[in-house]
Amino acid sequence: MHRFFIPSSLSLHTGETLALPDKLAHQVRDVLRLAIGEALILLDNSGDEIVCTVEKSSRAGVEVAVQERRVGQRESKVQIILCQGLLKSARFEWILEKGTELGVKAFVPTLCRRSMAGLEETGPSKLQRWQRILQEATEQCGLSRVPTLAPIRPLMHALNDIPSGALALMPWEEEQGINLRTVLQEQPAKPQTVVLFIGPEGGLMAEEVALAKRHGVQSVSLGPRILRAETAAIAAVANVMYELEA
Ligand code: SAH
Repeated sequence: MHRFFIPSSLSLHTGETLALPDKLAHQVRDVLRLAIGEALILLDNSGDEIVCTVEKSSRAGVEVAVQERRVGQRESKVQIILCQGLLKSARFEWILEKGTELGVKAFVPTLCRRSMAGLEETGPSKLQRWQRILQEATEQCGLSRVPTLAPIRPLMHALNDIPSGALALMPWEEEQGINLRTVLQEQPAKPQTVVLFIGPEGGLMAEEVALAKRHGVQSVSLGPRILRAETAAIAAVANVMYELEA
């Protein structure tokens, strides 16, 4: 079933009818050509799915009836917060899309020592583009809540914001000791929240790792090869999900 986000102000309950906003009416009537009685899912970013059926469809507009409001079927039980060292936009946007598909709940663009200079000036147009990427990935993969995108912040702030009780990990390309799998398997209980810190293109500096350790973050290896930041981000998220998502 097709899924569409609608403004969360439109609170929808079973039995109600709704005239779709123009842009969505065009999509449903003229692009997808949904017939009267066909079902679609509306999402108000509450985490619920609102199953509706097309009741009226004409040039004047499209009206749907709310059949059922249910909890989203694909939300992940593990909350992953990805603090990603600032990268060039194209690479960062790739992480937004793939991370959303893999279940990342929050993206925190993090300013590290070796982040490319100038990346911290991200104007409103780029933030809007990032939000659109997140929403489209959310619709595509069947999630019902768009991951949050935090404002760019320095590593120190991201470290201070680690939720209490979260498992905080920093994959570090120079870590020779413990690897991600061992850390995850050694957890006494399944963590609800995992915070991952991935460095920028230029990597993480030893003092950034030391600072993170002072905040209770564990540095881990993702293996013997040096991965690009976007590869490391997706590999870390995928492995955490593999290990922790039932
Ligand atoms: N400076 C190197 C690596 C940067 S990789 C280069 O320029 O190619 C960017 C980030 O990906 C690292 O800071 C780290 O967070 C992560 N990463 C890459 N390879 C890793 C590995 N083998 N183990 C753990 N983390 C890794």
